Amino acid sequence: MHPNPLHTPVTYLKGVGPGRASLLGRELGIETYQDLLYLFPNRYIDKTRFHKIRELQRNSADVQVVGKIIHLKTVEQKRGKRLVATFVDDTGEMELVWFRSHQWFRDRLKLNAPYVIFGRVNWFNGRFSMPHPEITPVEVFRQQRRIAMQPVYPSTEKLGQQGVTNRVVAQWMQQLLSEVGEVIPETLPAGLREELHLPIKKEALLQAHFPDSTEQLARAQFRLKFEELFYIQLALLTKKMQRKSRIKGLPFEKVGEAFTGFYQHHLPFELTQAQKRVLREIRADLGSYAQMNRLLQGDVGSGKTIVAVMAILLAIDNGYQACLIAPTEILAQQHFQSVRELLEPMGLEVALLTGSVKARQRAPVYEKLRSGELPVLVGTHAVLEDKVRFANLGLAIIDEQHRFGVAQRARMWKKNQTPPHVLVMTATPIPRTLAMSLYGDLDVSVIDELPPGRKPIRTLHRTDADRLRVFGFLREQIALGRQVYVVYPLIQESEALDYKDLMDGYESITREFPAPRYQVSIVHGKMKPEAKDFEMQRFVGGQTQIMVATTVIEVGVNVPNATVMVIESAERFGLSQLHQLRGRVGRGADQSYCILMSGNKLSGEAKTRLQTMVDTNDGFEIAEADLRLRGPGDLMGTQQSGLLALKIADVVKDQDILRSARFYAQQLLRKDPGLELEEHRMVREKMARMDVFRTIWDYIS
Ligand code: ADP
Ligand code: MG
Repeated sequence: MHPNPLHTPVTYLKGVGPGRASLLGRELGIETYQDLLYLFPNRYIDKTRFHKIRELQRNSADVQVVGKIIHLKTVEQKRGKRLVATFVDDTGEMELVWFRSHQWFRDRLKLNAPYVIFGRVNWFNGRFSMPHPEITPVEVFRQQRRIAMQPVYPSTEKLGQQGVTNRVVAQWMQQLLSEVGEVIPETLPAGLREELHLPIKKEALLQAHFPDSTEQLARAQFRLKFEELFYIQLALLTKKMQRKSRIKGLPFEKVGEAFTGFYQHHLPFELTQAQKRVLREIRADLGSYAQMNRLLQGDVGSGKTIVAVMAILLAIDNGYQACLIAPTEILAQQHFQSVRELLEPMGLEVALLTGSVKARQRAPVYEKLRSGELPVLVGTHAVLEDKVRFANLGLAIIDEQHRFGVAQRARMWKKNQTPPHVLVMTATPIPRTLAMSLYGDLDVSVIDELPPGRKPIRTLHRTDADRLRVFGFLREQIALGRQVYVVYPLIQESEALDYKDLMDGYESITREFPAPRYQVSIVHGKMKPEAKDFEMQRFVGGQTQIMVATTVIEVGVNVPNATVMVIESAERFGLSQLHQLRGRVGRGADQSYCILMSGNKLSGEAKTRLQTMVDTNDGFEIAEADLRLRGPGDLMGTQQSGLLALKIADVVKDQDILRSARFYAQQLLRKDPGLELEEHRMVREKMARMDVFRTIWDYIS
């Protein structure tokens, strides 16, 4: 055996062997005893329960009936034979069907002898039938030990074909538990286990595989989920402590003239309470000697820009440069304009650096950045190019972070000896629990309040039959001087068709809204950047009333006079995308509308999505719904999904356990930050073994 018995390759387990071991590896990623131990059942079957035929429900699984066969016949079909038995109990009659091995069964099954059958029932031709039942003579059944909760393990087609049935896996598991049960180390401190009444690990694993009762199972699962989440939280919190103590930050010690001058004379509106709170949090970070690594979440329109600008002013007050990076050209330009409007009256220069800025204009920007003469740079990823050197970059703000890759974030760090403070702004709210498990080492600030006077956007769901009425409504709004977006989906896989839809849509809109009375803009990804900008500018400037576009306008565009967002084929968009699109309206004082157009036939999930949009404007609620519908992998993008490869816990369903795990992890670290106490030795050792966290850490920092 291996020095650590749990690391023994599965091939050594009795009954497995090299062939099946490599099959387990390929099919389920199981290499060691430990891996097998953590293959948890998907569900459990209760074989102590019996059903009467009269009580059967259509399509129910795990049905067990006692009765007898009163008739057996072989039915010839075009595609082959099947064996059909008529099975009765004292309440009714059903069929048992065999498509394979019918001769074998025909020879052995006895008429009028009592059997126990088990399987899934279908409703077929007006009667219940059970294909390929497990069938056991009652006298044999009586001798078997029956388990109230028999585990059903995850499987694959190949495993089944190779004879690795559920019964086989359950046998292995029993074998494994009897071999290693005694050496499974405890991994939670006794104090914690007592406080939470958690079973010991060995017992929890045993009960998770072969529970004695549903109560025992629940206790076992709770303990294992808690442990899993507890260690993730410990690792993330430890990482955060290390970052704070090891990575020296640039201290922004003073609040100077730029900040106070702006606050007193140039602030265009009163800050919301949420904006003030977030600013205090940022100031506290910047004033400490640790590097800031903060995620600022705020729904679309919640006013993140002004917070960014005020953080920039703090950098300037302390003699540092700052940059603001956006994911798209259009968004960078809008940021540039708004930042410049706010800062130039104070005599502060702001420059723009994007892919479309000409080389001639770039040279002086590079020069001024290097000399330190230019305090503020706004741009796209062009800012990350090696040519761009700052004299003393103190603060990097990244907007709409989900569009930036990890590598790009890392490049910001290379621009200085001491890493700049980093503020990541996102309008895609990440549910708190997910933020906790993914960004546990980032500090999170939330702007959870919209500026005053905003009217909530009214969202309606309409179908093609309502189209004329929708057009009528658009005319009314335009007559009031408002502007309208009409957005079409554009998905890579169906690009050609989607472009056709967009062009058809554009044509029908220009027909319904003819020039010269109406002017219609169109913007899509195939246009040259200059043409796109030209059209955008016409819409921003109010020369056109309708903007027909693909999702290029999703992010950041700010046209307060636009009050209607029509989303075509809305059922094809994801929830967070719909929410982002809706955020393009409702930016001014007027009542705004979002109209979701869809076909009549919708999948259940699509209906839920559209209904969620109609029901709520709250980005966090929408993110939670999205998480429930799609799971965390999709929500965060594939790149991050690996981080959530939890073995037993579920970030969506086990949010309460996650919160509690985080609480106790914090408590433990407060008491013993270095994990030096004897009672925490097991914790320290387990943390050292968890190489999985290296990946998380690499990702985050
Ligand atoms: P987002 O968080 O989506 O980036 P912005 O920063 O673009 O939001 O702000 C949206 C709009 O709200 C802007 O027009 C901005 O000037 C305005 N705004 C921001 N904060 C306030 C406030 N406290 N009071 C009034 N208007 C505000
Ligand atoms: Mg913004």
